Amino acid sequence: MGIQHEVRRRIGPVVRPRLDRLGTSLLAPPRTGFGSYHQHGDRSQRTVSLTFDDGPSRPSTESMLDVLDDLDVQATFFCVGEMVEWYPDIVQRAHHSGHIVASHSMYHSRAQAASLRSDAHLTATDDAIERAIGMRPSLYRPPWGWLTPWEARRVRRRGQTIIGWDVYPDDWKDPETDAAVTAEQVCSRVQPGSIILMHDATSNIRNCQKTQSAIAVRIIVERLRADGYEFVTIPEMLGVSPYAAESTHD
Ligand SMILES: [Zn+2]
Repeated sequence: MGIQHEVRRRIGPVVRPRLDRLGTSLLAPPRTGFGSYHQHGDRSQRTVSLTFDDGPSRPSTESMLDVLDDLDVQATFFCVGEMVEWYPDIVQRAHHSGHIVASHSMYHSRAQAASLRSDAHLTATDDAIERAIGMRPSLYRPPWGWLTPWEARRVRRRGQTIIGWDVYPDDWKDPETDAAVTAEQVCSRVQPGSIILMHDATSNIRNCQKTQSAIAVRIIVERLRADGYEFVTIPEMLGVSPYAAESTHD
């Protein structure tokens, strides 16, 4: 035990950062996204788009909606289907406030994207969102941005647009990253046309608290507006439609 502990103590600080870097590079969206991702909008337009993944949850998503409504910013929420079933009222509130409701898969698992056969998880998510707001989402973001080429083909065949990002702060961490740190990460990396990925919740957790993220959003919006940026939704930025033209459900 003593020797093992000593080995861990000496090697841990060397190995762990390497594993973190490896994980980060593996989890980052592929540069080409198999030709499927939109990772940013027009670089000549001083617009940015806030996107939130992994909700809805209570109270974290509600706190985020409070801040966004107060700032009069519309964002795009990539929702986990199972969590939409938990909190349809929160999704309805987001929709009625002018935010876009999009798909972030049914269970936030890599397993379904790996499946060769079925896109049932995509249909299940769209069904859950349709039950909540009466419309089926046309925007899809895979969990962690992790996509197989065959999953990308399936999503495109469904007529859905795959959305990546180009700005990704550490707001997903638990315990939470300090709001000032998250805000600085975003504001220092943002460019015209940036798609900012943040989190209104942690996936598959029913009662999230994300106090620092909500504070960070207020700082980000005020700072970037002062710098001449306008906040738009993903459909506005990319000129794509947020929802299917008509329901295919019945
Ligand atoms: Zn996610």
